Amino acid sequence: MSKIQSIRGMRSILPEETPIWQWLESKVRAITWRYGYQEVRLPILEPVSLFERAVGEATDIVSKEMYNFLDKSGEHITLRPEGTSGCVRAVVENNMCYNTTQRLWYQGPMFRYERPQKGRLRQFTQFGVETFGMPGADIDAELIYMTWDIFKALNVDRVIRLEINSLGTLPERKEHRVELVSWFNQHRALLDEDSLRRLETNPLRILDSKNPEMQEMIEGAPRLLDFLGEESRQHFDTLRTLLDNAGIEYIVNPRLVRGLDYYTRTVFEWITDELGSQGTVCGGGRYDGLVELFSDKKLPASGFAIGIERLLLLIQSTGGNSPVHNHPDIVVTCENPEQNIDALLLANTLRQHLPGQKILSDFSGLRLKRQHSNALKSGCRYIVTLNADQHIGLWDLKGDSHQILPADEIWQTINRQH
Ligand code: ATP
Ligand code: MG
Repeated sequence: MSKIQSIRGMRSILPEETPIWQWLESKVRAITWRYGYQEVRLPILEPVSLFERAVGEATDIVSKEMYNFLDKSGEHITLRPEGTSGCVRAVVENNMCYNTTQRLWYQGPMFRYERPQKGRLRQFTQFGVETFGMPGADIDAELIYMTWDIFKALNVDRVIRLEINSLGTLPERKEHRVELVSWFNQHRALLDEDSLRRLETNPLRILDSKNPEMQEMIEGAPRLLDFLGEESRQHFDTLRTLLDNAGIEYIVNPRLVRGLDYYTRTVFEWITDELGSQGTVCGGGRYDGLVELFSDKKLPASGFAIGIERLLLLIQSTGGNSPVHNHPDIVVTCENPEQNIDALLLANTLRQHLPGQKILSDFSGLRLKRQHSNALKSGCRYIVTLNADQHIGLWDLKGDSHQILPADEIWQTINRQH
């Protein structure tokens, strides 16, 4: 029979891994709660046109990485490649910013048709945050404070660095673009194929080319930071002061860019050297021009997205692990398979009286000795055994004691020890 395998770049998260996911998710949730952010749950399928408009047809995501298909009524549908676009759509569609601001977060699968490798999957998970209605550097700083809290809570703060930049406003970028294109044209012979294409579509993106042969030329290129007007400069200075005040270290990287017209001012990335070229764990920034692509109103906005799989790889690479235990506290066994129902009821009674304990019933039908050795392997603290004579044994593996007790004394004894 031919084997059915998962689709390339899409993996199952199996029980040995789910505890660390749950641990990470609970930390992240607690932090969003403490900052007053609200969860939104957004569709996984969206119209292709949403991303063509919001992410832009010139980007790698839209031009090569989307999972597009026609549905039964002939509509152009796609599996969402990122979360910001759908979030903006939901905010506009539901008029969520009428006379108010919004602080939102989401988590879920994203899909990109890329070459799978370490830290790069075709289905991956993003935790994202978006804010609406707040134009200042203060909210950008709040977003960065929040990411910093997350990395500290997960003990990866020592292996990750923050890079920031300002992209100014559209008119400022236009001025810079003229100078930039002229610089690249002067050094045309050094540009690789990708960059020649970008020179036409999106010259700013040439700045983040990784091609070693182009680095020296790029270093000399006109810096967007030198084209910022007074307001943008102040916005950036305020952000820097707010980061300094919070003791968050950062590097100003003038080459950090997002190539789309609707990005304004703040951009930031959290990067690690532990994961090779898939080192960007979090990317964010301000996108004051995006909402007006969907509505006749202008609405300032900013946000970030963290790649959860990369964050987990980072946690693992630093030897850290979740403190979540995955073993049962109590295993209920029974000597005679015909007593399974009694054993099931016994486990249930124990669960009612011991709500903090994880209680597992052994229904394997194996001999009692095997059940016990499996229970020992599971790492549990207690084994409760319903014997063939209906007596109940309690074995405390920590205290190494064994006693025969009535059912109600079992849970009382366990309760006393906690
Ligand atoms: P990269 O430069 O690594 O391709 P990107 O600029 O495409 O990243 P964003 O669109 O900014 O990434 O997405 C935010 C985050 O989502 C990234 O920083 C990364 O952690 C994660 N991410 C993006 N694409 C993938 C992928 N294919 N597999 C796993 N994680 C991803
Ligand atoms: Mg990418």
